[in-house]
This record gives sequence, C-alpha cells and structure tokens, in this order.
Amino acid sequence: MRDDFLPFSPPCLDDDEIAEVAESLRTGWITTGPKCRALEERLAERLNSPAALAVSSCTAALHTALAVLGVGPGDEVVTSALTFCSTVSVIEHVGARPILVDVEPDTLNLDPAAVAAAVTERTRVILPVHYGGHPCEMDALRAIAERHGLDVLEDAAHALPARYRGRWIGSGQNPAAFSFYATKNLTTAEGGLLTGAPEFIERARVASLHGMSKDAWKRYDKGGSWFYEVVMPGFKYNLPDVLAAIGLAQLRKLDRMQARRREAVARYREAFADLPLRLPVERDGCESAWHLYPVRLLDEAPVGRDEFIARMTAADIGTSVHFVPIHYHPYYREKYGWREGMHPVAEDAFRRLVSLPLHGGLRAEDLARVVAAVRTALAAGT
Ligand SMILES: *Cc1c(COP(=O)(O)O)cnc(C)c1O
Repeated sequence: MRDDFLPFSPPCLDDDEIAEVAESLRTGWITTGPKCRALEERLAERLNSPAALAVSSCTAALHTALAVLGVGPGDEVVTSALTFCSTVSVIEHVGARPILVDVEPDTLNLDPAAVAAAVTERTRVILPVHYGGHPCEMDALRAIAERHGLDVLEDAAHALPARYRGRWIGSGQNPAAFSFYATKNLTTAEGGLLTGAPEFIERARVASLHGMSKDAWKRYDKGGSWFYEVVMPGFKYNLPDVLAAIGLAQLRKLDRMQARRREAVARYREAFADLPLRLPVERDGCESAWHLYPVRLLDEAPVGRDEFIARMTAADIGTSVHFVPIHYHPYYREKYGWREGMHPVAEDAFRRLVSLPLHGGLRAEDLARVVAAVRTALAAGT
C-alpha cells in the first residue's frame, strides 16, 4: 500500500484500545469473561436491548439465532438478494431453504411487498438486512410476520447505531445480529452481538458455547464448580475478552465516530449534487448508521462502474462494491437454478454501485481528496 493511499474503511484505533487489551492480557483472563460481560451490558444499555450476547462474529450470531429458533430442513427463510454471502450461508448451515426477494430502489432494503408475495406455508423466518445502516421498513415486515406467525431475525451488521421510528435497531424482542468485523462501525477485529428477549438470549448463550449448562468463567473463577452438562450439541462461537476489550474502548468513542460519518455524508451530499450519481438516502423517521456511502452511476455518467473504480484506484482512493447479488454466485445458481433477471432492482443497482470511503476517522482533507477524485473520474473524456 502506498503512503498516500486513502483506504476505504480502516478501523479507528488509538491508545485507549491498546490499554484495554493490555489490561485484559495482564489480568490473565484472555477468553470470555468480565470484559465480554461488560461489553454486552454496555451495548444493551446503549441500544435499549432486552438482553445481549457477545459472539465471535455476526455470522455466528445469525447461525446461533436460526438454530435456537429451531429452523431446519423443510423450512424457508425469506431474505434480501443484495446482501453479504453469510446472511444466506447460515440458512444453508441449518438445512433450510433461502428465498431471495428484491429490494426497494431508494434504500436497497428488503421490499415488504416482495416479502409478502414470497411467503408460503413453509416460511419460518423473515431475515431483513439493514443495508448500509439504513433501517428496513420494520413495521411493514413485522405486520407480515404477525399475519403468518413468522419469526423476524435482523441482519444488523451495518446498523450500529441506527434508529427506526425512534427505536434503536436491536431494541426489539426479536433477535438482531450485529458485526464487529474490522470494517464495521464498531470493531473488535472479529466479533458480533446478538440482541433479543432475555429467555432467547440465554438459550443462545448455551448454544453459542458447546451447549454447556455453565460457561468457563463460572467453572474456573473462584468458587466455580467443575461440573457441567451438555444440553445440546452447541457451537464454539464465544468472544474472547482480549477482543471484547477493543470493543469497550470503541464504544466510548462511538458517538464521536458516528458524528464524523454524518459530517462526511453531509459533505458528500452537497459536493455530488450536480454529478450523474444516485446518492444514498435517509427516509423520514429513520436514522441510518451510515456504515456505507454507496453511490450508483447513472446512465448519463461518462464512465461505467468498473472504469470509475479504476480511476479512483489510480487516484489512490480505496472503494468497494456492496454487494454481488446472492443469485449471481455459482453455488446458488447451481443449487437452485437461480439466474440473472430474477431480482431486477438489485441487479440494476449492482451494475452501478460503488461504495466511497466512509469511516469514523475521515479528516476534512481526506474528504476533499475523495470529492476531487470523484469529480475528476466523472469528467467527460479524461
Ligand atoms: C459484515 C457482514 C456480515 C458478517 O459479519 P461477520 O461479523 O464478519 O460475520 C453479515 N451481514 C452483512 C450484511 C455484513 O455486511
């Protein structure tokens, strides 16, 4: 990487994270323990969650949630065609069938009308993805779920912190899964959080750690007993304290990082208003977490998406594409016969999409560089 390369989404780390990790190492309690519990408690408080469980990834949180909901062979789970692959691979892991539906043109979130049309007598779960951090239309999705007796499991990987009609994503009784991957709004390097009703989260806690009736902290801490029982063949999805420590430091500066994201979004919105780009929106009643700034190149743009990315790369600006539609991937094409043409809104978006740098450490001079590079990349004939 060149010195002057502006990365797409680096983590914002400083001495506070280093001190928290060092403390975890000095205490000698490096795996799941007090720092994990503190992270769970503070995040549950921040999001007004009924209960929370820290796990090793968002993928682990989604897998655990589907397992605890009892989803399995013969069941269908309705989700977005425009998401990260792991939203869908966890449905495969429990042996259920993913049913992809198209997205809404403005937010690129699950289209409630498409969800309603996709429900069959085999449907068990609706799995909305809060794309880029913008909340899905949860009232409409919950109404469909209630009408058909379905569970709702939210992929909230991008949605920390996001608000829908005054309520934080992750404050509901239904399960929601967050990601602490290195590029996400709050990182623990690798990690995730599952929120939901207290009884559900306690079952998920058991499922996430070998199905054991007592975790290691209770067994090996002073006064702990060696005895445990396995109540199900659980997973190994616990979050180590060394990583939870990073999250505690990150949580202390989350509001500051979010303010930076909002400033960058305001700057981009103003600077790109006259360009042949479709910019991301924030609907009334919604507060996006602004995890991503995905723009779409309009037909009038002098270059296509791939050439635009090449020009940005040549200008030392990192970008990304979110996401390759799930039904384009060979595994799903071969297994289910899915093909191009099935989800036209997601497909049209994918052809045009590019995510610009957006993170909690962007400085004014970084923004100026991105704006200048975008304007140059879209200048005709260059
Ligand atoms: C990052 C991401 C995930 C997976 O998160 P991990 O913590 O890496 O497992 C799931 N869904 C979406 C939409 C994501 O962007």
